[in-house]
Amino acid sequence: MTISLIFPVLFGWFAGWIVNYLSDALPHTRKLSKPECLQCHAPFSLMDYLLFKSCENGHPRGKRVWVVQIAMTTLSIFVWLQPPSKLGYLPALLLLLYFGVVFVIDMEHRLILHMTSIVGALLALILGFVMHGWASALLGGLGGFLIMMGFYLLGVLFTRMRNKRLKAQGQEADEEEALGAGDVILVTILGFLVGWPLVWFLILLSILLGGFVSLLLVVGLLVTRKYEKNALMMFIPYGPYFITGAFLIVFIPRFLAYLVPG
Ligand SMILES: [Zn+2]
Repeated sequence: MTISLIFPVLFGWFAGWIVNYLSDALPHTRKLSKPECLQCHAPFSLMDYLLFKSCENGHPRGKRVWVVQIAMTTLSIFVWLQPPSKLGYLPALLLLLYFGVVFVIDMEHRLILHMTSIVGALLALILGFVMHGWASALLGGLGGFLIMMGFYLLGVLFTRMRNKRLKAQGQEADEEEALGAGDVILVTILGFLVGWPLVWFLILLSILLGGFVSLLLVVGLLVTRKYEKNALMMFIPYGPYFITGAFLIVFIPRFLAYLVPG
């Protein structure tokens, strides 16, 4: 039992390195570039990078690298012990790797990159096919796309109306959209993965998760008296919630039974 956990610990740690590396490199250079310091762009030697050393000018790597290493290792042990039915350990770990990269990059940069989307779409299509067959996987993606497109257009309309009102009041317009085109693409991909009709549930669950966390944040701000009127209009990246929703559906399907009777 204990000895057999060496594999998931090693693979999980390795997956953490990859998530950290891709989250460092892709948003800045859009390619698999040599690791460099995010603050001063001093290059890292591979060994220093893998050991999380500070750069030659003393900039530390930040807390995220450790959060990612621990999270990926823990998740790797979890899917080793309880691989999702029909997937098995390695495909599940690959999926977690994709989830991790999208989660971190969207949290840090409010960005969903096309290159992660292309790789993710291929992976989600294959895994979705294995889990529910072609029809459900393709319909899930199409359904996700259409539903999110509806929300997206509503969001654009809302932003326009708000800006018109702000301009009428002589205030500066704010161009930021709550829901980006990247979210539409992400839910299309996750729709391939969870299939039809669960993509409906994914969207609902993610919105509820997002609302719940925002509520906690606002309460936290109120309690610590850092609350400002603007806090309610602050931008929340939705990507991490969609990823969390998809994670729950694929990896902890039992919790579905609690929420959806029958
Ligand atoms: Zn540096």
